[in-house]
Amino acid sequence: NRMLTALENREFTVYYQPKVNLATGKIGCAEALVRWQADSGRTIYPGQFIPLFERNGFCVNLDLYMAEQACRQIRSWLDRGLDPVPISVNQSKLLFFDRDYVRNLTCLLDRYQITASLITLEILEGLALENVDELNARILQLQEKGFRVSLDDFGSGYSSFSVLINPRITTLKIDRSLFQNENDLREKTLIRYIIQTAKELNMTTVAEGIETKGYVDFLKELGCDYVQGFYYYKPMSVEDFEELFVKNPITSA
Ligand code: C2E
Ligand code: MG
Ligand code: MG
Repeated sequence: NRMLTALENREFTVYYQPKVNLATGKIGCAEALVRWQADSGRTIYPGQFIPLFERNGFCVNLDLYMAEQACRQIRSWLDRGLDPVPISVNQSKLLFFDRDYVRNLTCLLDRYQITASLITLEILEGLALENVDELNARILQLQEKGFRVSLDDFGSGYSSFSVLINPRITTLKIDRSLFQNENDLREKTLIRYIIQTAKELNMTTVAEGIETKGYVDFLKELGCDYVQGFYYYKPMSVEDFEELFVKNPITSA
C-alpha cells in the first residue's frame, strides 16, 4: 500500500557493499543494495519486499530508481573531483526484459554524463536460463553501450552449468550458500571446480557472503578475483562509504 508514496518520499535508500580485489587488496567495485527506511524509523531489508515487488511489477520502478541513484552518486563524486568507484545494481527480470529498458538506462547515462563502464548490471540465474535468445540479444545491446553484466547468485536454487555456455556472461558471482563450512571437503571441491571452470572460460569471479579468513585464504589460493562479504565489509551508508574509500583512496583496504 505504501510503496508509491515511499518512492516519492525517498524512503528507499542505497547502501554500498565493497567488493575487494583479492590480488591487490583494494576496492574494485561496490554493490548498491536497497534499504527501506520507513517513516516509522524502521529499516526494512530487501528480503521482505523485493519478492512482493517482483510479483506486483513495482521492481521495474524501484530498480530504475536504484540505477539512477548509482549514476547520480558517480556524478557527485566526479563533480567533487573524487575518483569514482564502479557500482553494480541488481536488475529484476521484469525490468531486464522491459521494452524501454536499454533506452531508459542510456538516458540516465546522458543525464548524469557518465560512462557505462562504471555501471555493472547484476542479473539472476533464473533469468539466464529462460529466454536465452532474448537474453543474449539484450546483453549484446547493453554491452554495445558499454555496460558490464554479471550473473548473481550462481550455485543457488536450480542452478545449471549450462548457463556458463553463454559467452555473453563475463562475470560470475558465486552464491553464499556454497560458503557454509570452510572445513567441508565436498564444498571445497565444488568451489574449486566452479572457479577453475570460470577461469578457463575467461570469466571474472566474485565470491559472495565471505565471513572468515579461512575462506579468503582459500579463495586467494584458487585465484578468485573478488570477494564481497562481512569478513571485509558489511553494506554501509554512502557517508561511511565515502569516508572509507572515495575521500581516502590511498588508505583504502
Ligand atoms: P544479492 O544481490 O546477492 O546481495 C548480496 C546480499 O548478501 C545482501 O543482502 C548482502 O547484505 C548479503 N551479504 C553480503 N555479504 C554477506 C556475508 O558475509 N554474510 C551474510 N550473511 N550476508 C552477506 P541484502 O542487502 O539483504 O539483499 C538481499 C537480496 O535482495 C540481494 O541479494 C538482491 O537479490 C536483492 N536486492 C537488494 N537490493 C535490490 C534492488 O535494488 N533491486 C532488486 N531487484 N533486488 C535487490
Ligand atoms: Mg546482487
Ligand atoms: Mg548474490
